[in-house]
Amino acid sequence: MNRFRQNIVGQVEQNWPLTLRQWDELGSQLRAIAQLARGDLDNQLDLEPAYPGGRLPEPASAIRLARERNIPTILPAAFYHLSRLSIDDDWGETPHCDQPLAAGYTAEWNLLTADDLRCLLKGQAKLRQAPRDILHFTYRTDRCPETCCSMKRWGLLKEIEETCIKSPDVLRVAREYIERKTYGDGICHLCSSRIRHDLATFRHILWDMLTDYFCI
Ligand SMILES: [Zn+2]
Repeated sequence: MNRFRQNIVGQVEQNWPLTLRQWDELGSQLRAIAQLARGDLDNQLDLEPAYPGGRLPEPASAIRLARERNIPTILPAAFYHLSRLSIDDDWGETPHCDQPLAAGYTAEWNLLTADDLRCLLKGQAKLRQAPRDILHFTYRTDRCPETCCSMKRWGLLKEIEETCIKSPDVLRVAREYIERKTYGDGICHLCSSRIRHDLATFRHILWDMLTDYFCI
């Protein structure tokens, strides 16, 4: 019976990223698949999705399953995914058969228990506060050792912080800033690499905090 349970748990865990690296890999896959759908990557048609269906499973039923079958490992990713969705992103009201990508962004909200809805709301509030609490730019107050325009650097850091606070998907937004090739004129290479480092640190801390945020 133990082996049977292990097999089931293993299969469920395979559907959900358990680490930030896996989360990012899935994000890259989804982005590439979306680009393929638009015809942007015609030379990469052999791209294989890392997860079944190339998208995340429906999160509310996953949370219910994890609670009832004691599989807490998938809860951070499932709750975070659910936190990005709107109550209008309803599984039952979306024509998901025709839109497989869109189907990864809906939830069966009626499967969520009242306790888990409270966990979700607490987690969303914590995520909105997270950029103020744990996003620390080490160069915010220091003098730039190179040629930065201090006003532009200050403005950039403020823009990043505000964008992170407003976004329902702070991990994605922070990653997009990390992946920017340049932050424009007036921001030197050294400061740019520090900003990327601070954002990467922020994302790792945030991922590790998800269990606390959603009271899992
Ligand atoms: Zn600089």
